[in-house]
Amino acid sequence: MMKALVKEAPEAGFTLLAKPIPQLPVDGVRIRVLATSICGTDLHIYNWDAWAASKVTTPLTVGHEFCGEVIEVGEKVTRFEAGDYVAAESHIFCDQCRPCRAGQRHICENEKIIGVQRDGAFAEQIVMPERCIWRTPADLPPEIATLQEPLGNSVHATLAGEVSRRHVMVTGCGPTGLFAVAIAKTCGAASVMAVDVQQYRLNLATELGADQVLNPLECDVVAEIQTATEGRGADVVLEMSGNEK
Ligand SMILES: [Zn+2]
Ligand SMILES: [Zn+2]
Repeated sequence: MMKALVKEAPEAGFTLLAKPIPQLPVDGVRIRVLATSICGTDLHIYNWDAWAASKVTTPLTVGHEFCGEVIEVGEKVTRFEAGDYVAAESHIFCDQCRPCRAGQRHICENEKIIGVQRDGAFAEQIVMPERCIWRTPADLPPEIATLQEPLGNSVHATLAGEVSRRHVMVTGCGPTGLFAVAIAKTCGAASVMAVDVQQYRLNLATELGADQVLNPLECDVVAEIQTATEGRGADVVLEMSGNEK
């Protein structure tokens, strides 16, 4: 048996339970979970809002961001062995449907996201298909390695358009927005302007390379950005706050 954090019934809350160790299919990799991180998605599922009710069937072990150590591999697994340090792509894609075959696996028509539609990573062990596992550098601490999944989301979003040589504005400095600040800066943005209502988050944005941080409760953000860009405004806006207003 193993400990697992489970959404037991269609209502708010999680329960810590003893669950059977998952079976290992021939193409599966058994991973001892070393670190996990909590996503906004987990909060939706914890609170059991309308989104969660439409996506999740209970009972379900939650959690989709993690890293760990391979402890056993199925007989058809060729790329991994016990002892490997790995992290995972949370979307289990089929590799057969039209989007998968067009290189768009993240919108697979048959996708199952761990911790949302299939048992997830807030447990002592998880079994993943070999195709969704990535080897992780040994010197990356587990609490950082687990963040590669949301970092990947932010890389995808930030680089959906051109940021190099552009003035980039990031609204919302939660983890995804902060990643976007660092990614845009690393990829050659002319400047990165970060917007948030919390000074703590703006300080983190500065640490990650933001050229200018703006708090709309304390300044006129539009006027500041017009001044900083010689009246032209931001070339790229990355909305990472999720705030409908
Ligand atoms: Zn997530
Ligand atoms: Zn597919």
